[in-house]
Amino acid sequence: MPLVKAQGIVMKQINLGEADKIITLFTDRIGKIQAVAHGARKPKSKFLASTQLFSYGEYVMYKGRSLYTINQADVKESFQNLLGDLYTLTYCSYILELSDVLTQNDERNTDLFALILKTFYLMSEGRIDRDILTMAFEIKSMSISGYMPGLYRCMICDTDNKLTAFLSQAGGLVCEKCADTSSNSIRIDRSTINIMRYILKTPLEKLNTIRISIENKNEIKKVMKDYIKYYLEREFKSLDFLNDIKSVENL
Ligand SMILES: [Zn+2]
Repeated sequence: MPLVKAQGIVMKQINLGEADKIITLFTDRIGKIQAVAHGARKPKSKFLASTQLFSYGEYVMYKGRSLYTINQADVKESFQNLLGDLYTLTYCSYILELSDVLTQNDERNTDLFALILKTFYLMSEGRIDRDILTMAFEIKSMSISGYMPGLYRCMICDTDNKLTAFLSQAGGLVCEKCADTSSNSIRIDRSTINIMRYILKTPLEKLNTIRISIENKNEIKKVMKDYIKYYLEREFKSLDFLNDIKSVENL
């Protein structure tokens, strides 16, 4: 059987039999794959750390018919600190959930891999607002995967004048006139548009200088939720859960 070496992040893990695990790895070289780690649940297993959720490492595997089998694994960064805080845990789980839906098995997407990794490092550092990081991840991961929202011209009539709404089915912003043609268009403030443009063109690690008001954040969240739902045909509950917690905390 051929040996394959790749860097990967553990996206999911499920138990198999008495002591084994099947993990979903998102890798740099071979995309998303499923791999068996024999004995990974034994207390002294050499795969204990490398098969935990969020772990990032280098994996040497045998390729089987549908599953890989892990032969050797070295953890580069366990990211286990991200599991300790409810907020980062939820944000990072959402990031992996979204990435999972954005990718097919065995389909390489090195840009997305790099984006996930960078987001995890920045989440772990805590230097940048995690809310902003998550929004930026949404905008950038969708763009990398072929769904870049149009933020400069009306996606229906092509004007750059009076862009006042976002219409997912049109693929981005629409002008005042075109917005009236659909009940699905979402009003968006000029300042929010500018922030979304800035996020789209700015590398993640440079987002530490940006301050975004609650109003702007809420508009971006609303628009991106609608956009992701429209194109990926999925609703992600994890962030709603977080918003519920925040509102309880603010009572
Ligand atoms: Zn228009």
